[in-house]
Amino acid sequence: MTVLHLRGRIVADEEHEVGDAWVLDGRLTFDRPSVEPEATLTGVVLPGLVDVHCHVGLSAAGATDVPTARAQALADRDSGVLLIRDAGSPLDTSWVADEPELPRLVRAGHHLARPRRYLRDYARELADPDELPAAVAQEAARGDGWVKLVADWIDRDLPAGGDLTPLWTSRQLAESVAAAHAGGARVTAHTFATETLDDLLAAGVDCLEHATGADPAQIEAIAAAGIPVTATLLQVAQFGVIAEAGTRFPAFAARMRAMHARRYDQVRDLHDAGVQILVGTDAGGTIVHGRIADEAAELVAAGIPAAQVVAAATWQARRWLGVPGMVEGASADLVVYATDPRTDIRALAEPAAIVLRGVRVR
Ligand SMILES: [Zn+2]
Repeated sequence: MTVLHLRGRIVADEEHEVGDAWVLDGRLTFDRPSVEPEATLTGVVLPGLVDVHCHVGLSAAGATDVPTARAQALADRDSGVLLIRDAGSPLDTSWVADEPELPRLVRAGHHLARPRRYLRDYARELADPDELPAAVAQEAARGDGWVKLVADWIDRDLPAGGDLTPLWTSRQLAESVAAAHAGGARVTAHTFATETLDDLLAAGVDCLEHATGADPAQIEAIAAAGIPVTATLLQVAQFGVIAEAGTRFPAFAARMRAMHARRYDQVRDLHDAGVQILVGTDAGGTIVHGRIADEAAELVAAGIPAAQVVAAATWQARRWLGVPGMVEGASADLVVYATDPRTDIRALAEPAAIVLRGVRVR
């Protein structure tokens, strides 16, 4: 039986903080155990970080093999991320749940797109877009309560030249979100384009990824509907490079450059309107795993207070996903910092100790 003593500032959420806690048999307790602790960890102790947009099992070439996916999950874990909401993976990663040294993973199944309307080999591509509701129902049954749609992407075949356009009609979206909800799953959607958002909101989507195209009226509507947005600023930082690659399509390139230039203002506008901004690295594909501290620093650079970013990356995301944080009897999944990331976000990059399922893993 491993007993750890946690000392310093044990932070459950913005209102609950104590000076001592213990890890006993893999679980948290606030009652001093009768057994002498084997070790004491001192510092600012936060619930394990949550990356809500992360692709375990995805590389720039599509699905990875199992050892690569495992290495990705370990890189996430060693950055303090102990809970991941997957944002779609071409690899079946259900085995992750059986490996106690890996972070907890809430899977979204395989993300859904159309042929030639997303990155090659990433998504499940539906030849007939009317298949979307049935495919959503299948992915809802396959995942852990989430389904991921690619809602817009460049269409290279437009008469006026390539540009971002929606992949699905409003009816296809509405029927698909209803199918997911009927199957007990929530839906999140990749969206860059302004043209997609009204239909997504009307369909009752549960979460938005990127949302770089949201205009002021749509931002108000997102706030009124209480839908969170994963800002993915590390990904949006690459929009300039994506625009360079798309110079054959001037309208597309101009749009991507404009969204890149406005990315901090966009996130601050969403935040100021009252939209919950989520912390997601979009790792897998072109972004390496383990960069949650960099994404958090980007959100602070955009103007969101560090304390709010830390809350979003810990207890708020855990509540939203229904996974307990720093409460009596919960699995001891926590990160210890020498300095408080709520006052200096850079501290997030230097965890002093990481405890997963009661075991110190770093
Ligand atoms: Zn992604």
